[in-house]
Amino acid sequence: MTIQWFPGHMTRAKRQIQDKLKLIDVTIELLDARIPMSSRNPIVDEILGGKPRLIVLNKSDLADAKVTEQWITYFKGEGHECIAVDSSTGTRVNEVPVKAKELLQEKIDRQIAKGINPRAVRGLIVGIPNVGKSTLINRLAGRNIALTGDRPGVTKGQQWIKAGKDMELLDTPGILWPKFEDELVGYRLAMTGAIREQVLNIEDIAFFALKELVDRYWNSVKERFELTIEQPDTNESDEIVKVMEEIGRKRGCLQSGARVDLEKVSGIILRELRAGKFGHISLEAPWKQNS
Ligand code: GDP
Repeated sequence: MTIQWFPGHMTRAKRQIQDKLKLIDVTIELLDARIPMSSRNPIVDEILGGKPRLIVLNKSDLADAKVTEQWITYFKGEGHECIAVDSSTGTRVNEVPVKAKELLQEKIDRQIAKGINPRAVRGLIVGIPNVGKSTLINRLAGRNIALTGDRPGVTKGQQWIKAGKDMELLDTPGILWPKFEDELVGYRLAMTGAIREQVLNIEDIAFFALKELVDRYWNSVKERFELTIEQPDTNESDEIVKVMEEIGRKRGCLQSGARVDLEKVSGIILRELRAGKFGHISLEAPWKQNS
């Protein structure tokens, strides 16, 4: 499996972000709380440099709260401030400007001591596609803003968006690319909806997703689909296919000759996973990043 960004595209994305860094005080690195490692750009430290950084774990409504807390501790250990939010409903989003300001508090205090009235903290949201950058910007702005994105040929002046009284954001977020070279990363991005299904085969993604779910959240899967089958051995592909087939029979995904339509089953598994129907699911934990 190879999903890649054109190298020239990466260079351009990097340059665009670095141009914007000159204008801002703080970067807001957005990650998917379910897969903080797979949704992270492999050279993010190099791109963002030493700017104060707030890591925001988005889509925390879909993730396992206990694991999210462990990630927060992990990223703090890396020297970054970190919070978890749900941009779709706005839960804890108002902490973003508060934490961003805290990161600059010393500078602000120095300005106040010199009699300077500090201006609003200027921030840039960065993250891979579909991690929720636009959703978060709209939440912070308190209104819907048509984000132009960084399309080639579109020249438009940067605009500041007010995010509360103490913060302003650049209207075009920084778009980063994920770590595509790793197959596991590719599948995790696909199962959470960060990569469009067309890029990978839907049955492959669902098979991979089910394997991960059976491994970590068997009871939720069993309950959701009212399965009677025993917990399968995830090293045995046939056993996972048997689970897919039982799901298909339960959901009426049958073709002629009573054969299970695996493509249809795959669609159901992925749709329900992405909608959080199996409960709060974290696919990566800080102590176990590669399995
Ligand atoms: P962008 O490409 O980074 O700008 O991502 P979008 O803001 O377009 O979001 C991608 C998808 O994720 C959309 O369907 C959003 O509704 C959804 N989304 C964004 N934030 C959250 C969140 O915190 N929770 C959930 N459940 N969905 C979210």
